Amino acid sequence: MELSHIRNFCIIAHIDHGKSTLADRFLEFTKTVESRKMRQQYLDTMELEQERGITIKLQPVKMMYHKGGDDYILNLIDTPGHVDFTYEVSRALAACEGAILVVDATQGIQAQTLANLYLALEQNLEIIPVLNKIDLPNSEPDRVAEELSNILGFKKEEILQISAKTGQGVEALLDAVVQRVPQPKGELEAPARALIFDSNYDKHRGVVAYVRMIDGKISSNEKVQLIGVGAETQALEVGFFTPAFLKSKQLTVGEVGYIVTDFRDVSRARVGDTVTNAPEKDVLAGKIKALPGYKEVKPMVYASFFPANSDEYPKLRDAIAKLKLSDAALFFEPVTVASIGTGFRCGFLGLLHMDIVQERLAREYDLDLVITSPTVEYRVELKSGEVYLLHAASELPDPSSIEKIDEPWAKLEIITPSEYLGGVLDLLSKRRGEQKNIEYASQGRVLLTFEIPLANIIVDFYDKLKGATSGYASLNYELIGFRESPIVKLNVLIAGERVEAFATLLHRDSAEKEGRDILVKLQELIPRHQFAIALQAVIGGKVVARETIRPYRKDVTAGLYGGDDSRKKKVLEKQKKGKKRMKQFGRVNIPQNVFIDVFKK
Ligand code: GDP
Ligand code: MG
Repeated sequence: MELSHIRNFCIIAHIDHGKSTLADRFLEFTKTVESRKMRQQYLDTMELEQERGITIKLQPVKMMYHKGGDDYILNLIDTPGHVDFTYEVSRALAACEGAILVVDATQGIQAQTLANLYLALEQNLEIIPVLNKIDLPNSEPDRVAEELSNILGFKKEEILQISAKTGQGVEALLDAVVQRVPQPKGELEAPARALIFDSNYDKHRGVVAYVRMIDGKISSNEKVQLIGVGAETQALEVGFFTPAFLKSKQLTVGEVGYIVTDFRDVSRARVGDTVTNAPEKDVLAGKIKALPGYKEVKPMVYASFFPANSDEYPKLRDAIAKLKLSDAALFFEPVTVASIGTGFRCGFLGLLHMDIVQERLAREYDLDLVITSPTVEYRVELKSGEVYLLHAASELPDPSSIEKIDEPWAKLEIITPSEYLGGVLDLLSKRRGEQKNIEYASQGRVLLTFEIPLANIIVDFYDKLKGATSGYASLNYELIGFRESPIVKLNVLIAGERVEAFATLLHRDSAEKEGRDILVKLQELIPRHQFAIALQAVIGGKVVARETIRPYRKDVTAGLYGGDDSRKKKVLEKQKKGKKRMKQFGRVNIPQNVFIDVFKK
């Protein structure tokens, strides 16, 4: 297809403002999906996405649109809205020339609206501002249009109004995409260059790279080079997203599609890399320039994952490497912790991200895990002058050797209705936030800018903020650097045994309270045993809290009458099986879910 008839765009918005629903209407209107096959949030193809009603992965789809006697290819990429999945958004944007910025007209601009818009502007994309949900009686298109023009500088006449639910205004929006989004640039006759913006491990096909063609063409069965990793592969198959894979003969300049590689080693297909069909000698000689690619993501929070059953280490290693293909923001490296075993230290963009990874490992790879307490990255300076970065409480050296510990700080932006301002400020001061700016976004809504320790916002801050604002506030944050802080290590002893997985690093002022909270949770979560179990929280050799789990004899055969031995045996065996999902520490069995649930608030 001629470049003048291709448009590549994505939909960006705050969570729940209607991206996936709008994508549904596009799919229907362009007849990309047959109406009998249509279901809600069609592009949320993962089971987890459908269950939770959130978009986790970017998802490309190719649509054909007939307008004024011309056929256009519209390549749409649906994106997630939650702050933990921002890396998906930024990679999608790099494959596009335009973005539809959706704003819920019953709510107005939210923190992720701003964050995603900034990402799109950084990439010089053409932005089409859209007010959604105008079918709802409580929508306020005029007020929200005012916000878009006041804060973001859009002209009122360029803002479209739609209902992604009823389809009102959707055709006009498609026309705006054709008119306003620039056509792709690139040379058909040049050696091929394609940007890998995502990848996937397909059980049947192996490693699949999702690409945006920048120059040239790539045909199936052609030999191609990956410039960044310096590897060669065969394009076993190329094609487009419908959103399912649809095989084609070739991909040409300007298009979005996929390449099935013959890689066995999953670490070879890296997002941001450039695929070319130029001969290897030209690549080696530097005649073909790699595309700029992506910034590496910096994890916000770290936790170590261990197989509950240590025999499953190879399975975990294989699973994490495969998962990383479809989750480029996931960081991992092998780690060994004395009392737990060998596993992986993983880095995430937030706790939702961690939760999703954990859930996918369980579902897609059938793995039971022991997970250590999530922590931010600390910077430790020893008296010897040595400086290193620390990602787990277990790595903290003897306190007497430490000169100082720095913790990461974040810039935090919150948008809230002004009636809740008092409660929000209160919460921020409890979390050691420092006020930088407060301004009015529009009538009745304020934008707050604070600096705050990252550790104080990654765990339960969002829930607390929602609670303080009846769910109306939104937030966004980014790392700004390290500052010195009095950090101490809290150890948890269970029946006298230190359980490293529950150890955490905390600010001195809140450590005792946190210690008490953890014990209370453990008391609830760990099932009773036949003996009493003492729980202790210890800081620097001093016990700061204690609890006891009272004994209980769980006689599973109690309900069975004597005599029938085989039945009794069966029941006991079943109980034994149930125990497999536990991890033993000393005499105490801890169910796998405890390691995750103890850190959920
Ligand atoms: P996303 O998180 O941005 O992908 O948002 P979704 O597309 O999943 O939509 C969030 C919720 O808003 C869903 O319950 C949708 O049914 C609803 N929704 C989306 N667009 C509209 C609309 O135009 N009108 C109404 N009434 N509801 C909508
Ligand atoms: Mg969505």
